[in-house]
Amino acid sequence: MATSIRLGPAGWAAVREHLAGSDQERMAYLLARATRWETGGVDLLVTRVIPVPDQGLSQQSPAHVVPDPAVTRELLIACYETGLSLIDVHSHPFATDTVTFSGRDMANMAATHRDFLNRMPADPPVGVASLVVGRRSVAGAATDPATLQLGPLASLLVIGDQRTEVELCQP
Ligand SMILES: [Zn+2]
Repeated sequence: MATSIRLGPAGWAAVREHLAGSDQERMAYLLARATRWETGGVDLLVTRVIPVPDQGLSQQSPAHVVPDPAVTRELLIACYETGLSLIDVHSHPFATDTVTFSGRDMANMAATHRDFLNRMPADPPVGVASLVVGRRSVAGAATDPATLQLGPLASLLVIGDQRTEVELCQP
């Protein structure tokens, strides 16, 4: 079922700015409150933006990034204790007008999303998603909490004085 992300303009600007600030791949995490619709759709409302400093990465290059396990462990504990959902974001500085998850990204997402959903308590509802950000492009993916199927993110909405739907590159 469809997963959507909503976040405020300041949060989205902070993510973009952090990711664009390097020729190396960078990461950020978003913590979100999930609402599960009766239709099965999941809405993730971002409540916190966490740019990962380069010291919080265990591997980093212009085409690769891996977070320090201590960073992800801390986030998983925070989500577990607060019932919040997790969205990971990383950059592809080499991508311009089109960006897509790499094969390695897809394999990582399938594993980390499933692991996240398996660890979280059944209540409150949670969701899990990933974003990849190019210079002028964004793509997203999410795993359905019910079926554990990984698929494209339905929408990314920046909600401020007006609602702006961020155009997502399709795989
Ligand atoms: Zn990637």
